[in-house]
Amino acid sequence: PLVLGIETSCDETGVGVVRGHTLLADAVASSVDEHARFGGVVPEIASRAHLEAMIPTVERALREAGVSPRDLDGIAVTAGPGLAGALLVGVSAAKAYAYALGKPLYGVNHLASHICVDQLEHGALPEPTMALLVSGGHSSLLLAPDITTDVRPLGSTIDDAAGEAFDKVARVLQLGFPGGPVIDRYAREGDPRAIAFPRGLTGPRDAPYDFSFSGLKTAVARWIEARRAAGEEVPVADVAASFQEAVTDVLTRKAVRACAEQGVDHLMIGGGVAANTRLRAMAEERCRRAGIILRVPRPKLCTDNGAMVAALGAEMVARGRAASDWELPADSSLPVTEPHVPGTGHG
Ligand code: ATP
Ligand code: MG
Ligand code: FE
Repeated sequence: PLVLGIETSCDETGVGVVRGHTLLADAVASSVDEHARFGGVVPEIASRAHLEAMIPTVERALREAGVSPRDLDGIAVTAGPGLAGALLVGVSAAKAYAYALGKPLYGVNHLASHICVDQLEHGALPEPTMALLVSGGHSSLLLAPDITTDVRPLGSTIDDAAGEAFDKVARVLQLGFPGGPVIDRYAREGDPRAIAFPRGLTGPRDAPYDFSFSGLKTAVARWIEARRAAGEEVPVADVAASFQEAVTDVLTRKAVRACAEQGVDHLMIGGGVAANTRLRAMAEERCRRAGIILRVPRPKLCTDNGAMVAALGAEMVARGRAASDWELPADSSLPVTEPHVPGTGHG
């Protein structure tokens, strides 16, 4: 199926076009520069930027894909979770395009999309799929017997998300926003064993599939403060590398363990943090040693984009899932257990 996907859950206006598992276009307009001076995403600014970028980005994606909107089999859109006002812009646009073109509308889950995007890279997802979802707002281990209907959380963060920890540590190091990519860069010049930062929730009695990154973030901040108080220079590269090592160590350790215990021989890693160089390398090494096949999409498909929404939409069409109603709401807290928002049949 030929599907156009629209993503506006945060600060990226993403529009993608896919045919089944084939990526045809991935157009992204980001308002990240407008948020940088505030140190985080400002919802009102994001909504306005989506409004301005929407039509040009849809047109760019269609042009890139070289398809006519008449040939589409459906329009998919992120229905949640995310920023309410930002989601509303995407959902409204998707409804307008779907209605005007006479195409079915599929409201899909942003988190399931972060997983399903890997079909564009490595073909059909195995069933079940074990997924480590690590992004700005979420960090979870998910088992998905069917990405269109059945996603089960095995565990998740009890405080900060992994991406949030990257952003907060970058802020303490005064490296700007978003923090993930900068820390990734600095860490390449640093020693990951320079500082022994804590590994949260890795004790024998801790929940095996849950994560905690708030203690780590605090430990990093304290370590930096102590240095500054002593009038010493902060070794930014070593702090970045040691912090990043602590995050990736816990993520990969728990993900590999989940695969072994659940009898799953594939691991998919998705979400913005999956773009991290060290996480990718460590996961590669640990999966190889454990006999697990690793699937991680290229970095551009890990961070927010429209192609991932189109990929999940195409899977909905391929499997004959019910389309959404014209009343489809934007649901800022859509649970990960709901991969899409089927219509009630009354719409
Ligand atoms: P969610 O998907 O939970 O709704 P989101 O959509 O805001 O959150 P994503 O775009 O999926 O998040 O990911 C953004 C996060 O990924 C940010 O916290 C950012 O710092 C982090 N990130 C991006 N690139 C990297 C990288 N190379 N290393 C580490 N973190 C990264
Ligand atoms: Mg973003
Ligand atoms: Fe995301």
